Amino acid sequence: LARDLSRFKDPDLARGLIASIEELAPVSCNLMEVCGTHTVAIARNGIRAIMPEGTRLLSGPGCPVCVTANKDIDTVIALTRIPEVTVATFGDMTRVPGSTSSLLAEKAAGRSVEIVYSPLDALTFAQEHPERQVVFVGVGFETTTPLVSMAIKRAHVLNLSNFTVFVAHKNMPGALETIVADPSLKVDALILPGHVSTVTGIRCYEFLAHDYGVPGVVTGFEPVDVLQGIAMLMRQLREGRAEIEIAYTRGVRPEGNQVALAAIDEVFETCTATWRGLGPIPDSGYAIREKYRAFDAVARFQPVVEKTVEHAGCRCGDILRGAQSPDECPLFGKVCTPENPIGPCMVSSEGSCAAYYRYYR
Ligand code: SF4
Repeated sequence: LARDLSRFKDPDLARGLIASIEELAPVSCNLMEVCGTHTVAIARNGIRAIMPEGTRLLSGPGCPVCVTANKDIDTVIALTRIPEVTVATFGDMTRVPGSTSSLLAEKAAGRSVEIVYSPLDALTFAQEHPERQVVFVGVGFETTTPLVSMAIKRAHVLNLSNFTVFVAHKNMPGALETIVADPSLKVDALILPGHVSTVTGIRCYEFLAHDYGVPGVVTGFEPVDVLQGIAMLMRQLREGRAEIEIAYTRGVRPEGNQVALAAIDEVFETCTATWRGLGPIPDSGYAIREKYRAFDAVARFQPVVEKTVEHAGCRCGDILRGAQSPDECPLFGKVCTPENPIGPCMVSSEGSCAAYYRYYR
């Protein structure tokens, strides 16, 4: 396996692809890497710097922590203030600033916040602590949503009365439609997510090519993967084609993973979700179906958020739409650093600001 993967770091292959990109690139174009893991891979491998003149790589809305709206962060914080509640969440989420606090600050103030690595860990914690009401914070795209479905189904089978989920899961097509339909953003082509597409497949993106004329290529995360994806996009632009193609054939099939999709569909239905930077988008979020509504933390605890305040000066919303890059934020690297993050894009390991801070300064 290691030898197989080493092909995707091969300098000769990379050089050949860089030459193809240079040959095929139009005079100017904007490519958006949708996924936060691609943002990090591009930064770590210096790919932005070797793009032809006139080619811009824009970061998109694919970091799940980053796109979680302030109101949702504030709602989770309100949940931690309910005395019997323990909030269980991934580590990144604890550092994201809400309007006036963060989960880390709440924990320091004595509230019960547990860092977990999966929703099933949160379920186990609930079984081991029957005196607590455990609320798991569900963020992420189709790579994490099936696991949350499984946890809810297991809680249902176990008749567990002290486990619920705060659902902030999202799917990508509606957000991408909002971006490609915005003429001010001028996105010419999309580097589509690798991990998420292993579950979704590519059919859900095809309307972007058909209806908006924007080509997309699903690709992986090694340097050769990313370069191959960019070369395929350049070829489509050169030939005037708009299709959704797969460069990441070792991971993604057109039809996706039907088992994982069925797991999501059994527990969740789509709903309007509010994205940081993009606002409310119909059918881009997930809500727990009636059959499993007993496991919905908002329905059970009805947390109250008085007023949501955005962080003055933070440009995360513009960065997540591809309208600005992190170094255009006046707070970047001065006021806002990974040690003192002002917005989520500096907190998350997949955030654009954190990637710029680490690799471009
Ligand atoms: Fe927000 Fe900080 Fe990024 Fe500026 S550098 S956009 S304040 S996270």
